[in-house]
Amino acid sequence: MADAVDVLVLGGGPAALCIAAELNQCGVEVAGIAPQPVDAPWPNTYGVWAEELRSLGLEHLLEHRWHDTVSYFGAGGEADQDQTLAHGIDYGLFDRAALQQHWLDRAEGVRWHHDSAESVDVGSMQTSVTCASGAKLLARLVIDASGSRTHHVRRPDQGPVAGQAAYGVVGRFSCNPIEAGRFVLMDYRCDHLSPEQRLEPPTFLYAMDLGEGVFFVEETSLALAPGVPYDVLKQRLMQRLDKRGVEITELIHEEFCLFPMNLPLPDRSQPLLAFGGSASMVHPASGYMVGSLLRRGPGLARAISVALKKPELGSAALARCGWQSLWPPELVLRHQLYQFGLGRLMGFNESLLRTHFATFFSLPQEDWFGFLTNTLPLNRLMAVMLKLFALSPWPLRRGLVLGAPRNQLPTWAQSKG
Ligand SMILES: Cc1cc2nc3c(=O)[nH]c(=O)nc-3n(C[C@H](O)[C@H](O)[C@H](O)COP(=O)(O)OP(=O)(O)OC[C@H]3O[C@@H](n4cnc5c(N)ncnc54)[C@H](O)[C@@H]3O)c2cc1C
Repeated sequence: MADAVDVLVLGGGPAALCIAAELNQCGVEVAGIAPQPVDAPWPNTYGVWAEELRSLGLEHLLEHRWHDTVSYFGAGGEADQDQTLAHGIDYGLFDRAALQQHWLDRAEGVRWHHDSAESVDVGSMQTSVTCASGAKLLARLVIDASGSRTHHVRRPDQGPVAGQAAYGVVGRFSCNPIEAGRFVLMDYRCDHLSPEQRLEPPTFLYAMDLGEGVFFVEETSLALAPGVPYDVLKQRLMQRLDKRGVEITELIHEEFCLFPMNLPLPDRSQPLLAFGGSASMVHPASGYMVGSLLRRGPGLARAISVALKKPELGSAALARCGWQSLWPPELVLRHQLYQFGLGRLMGFNESLLRTHFATFFSLPQEDWFGFLTNTLPLNRLMAVMLKLFALSPWPLRRGLVLGAPRNQLPTWAQSKG
């Protein structure tokens, strides 16, 4: 068995690299366990509002940046005149390799074990992790950053977990699927759907011009349990393109995306700490997390490094300090408000959802931006939610307070029970 390190991080994705890097910067002795080399390319692309990176001094990590950022919340079709809602702020896509390298540079000296964590045994002063290879590794504190599917982290069972599902295509098209140079956050126009499809849970288009004739178009379901199946999303995307007379001429990459949006918060009394998807850090209203890792990682690392200076603290006490720093009461309450809001939105039909988002984005920019990035203090967040309520037409207010009557379940959801 190897000598114990201060902190052992499980995972090799954004969350693992972030927390390993920030702990390393605090002078903590860190090791990691990752099934793939930590410099292997990540499968997902990550989007972020450019302002989130500007405030962190990290705008150089963007590979693409759009000034023309819009959404559509009209129904579409000829009756729908001015359909474009301009967001007025820049959106970007991370240069994945640059983001990874940013954290790897800050994690220089961290020892990565090419393995997979199978079981975690917490002792009074140290925690032991048994790997698939049979190796056992010891640390004063273990941080699970192995994603939302981890089975090492305890969390309450609050029923079915809603997933954000999306099917996307990076490719070339017979004509531009969206306007050149544009980023589309949400296109909820639905004039390409049959009346029956419009009664099913709504989906929207997320799309961007990647330059040189290449576009990314993705049909997305905000959140639903069970998640909208890929074949339904694909069919809707094809119908949408077809309606606009667009054909795919070259399919460069297909993206299949499914991740939990309302995963319950972990049990914060457990002696194992978590970070990232495993710690339910995905924003329940937007599905974003990377900006939050960059904002919350350094503070958590500082809190852990201070606690580690007390030799009398064992694994459980160190984890407790970590949980208090990662999920203080203020953030827990904000998270609960977001989860409540998402629960309401999931019951909305297509026209209520379009009305909701049109109202939401009519809020002052700092309000909707702060809401979507989880950067508003609790009192401001509550004030924004009340403002949203006051601006909402009556059917929407009723839906926000009482919940909307559910649509008839689509056939694909009925077959899954
Ligand atoms: C397709 C997709 C697109 C997304 N787009 C965005 C976006 O645009 N912007 C945004 O902010 N968020 C986005 N998200 C949400 C979120 O940011 C991502 O899910 C993010 O990858 C989560 O990071 P993570 O490090 O917590 O987990 P993961 O990225 O899932 O990484 C988990 C890591 O742990 C490793 N691992 C798994 N099991 C073990 C084990 N037993 N032992 C050791 N290691 C293990 C895995 O190999 C992997 O390296 C997206 C998610 C998906 C799925």
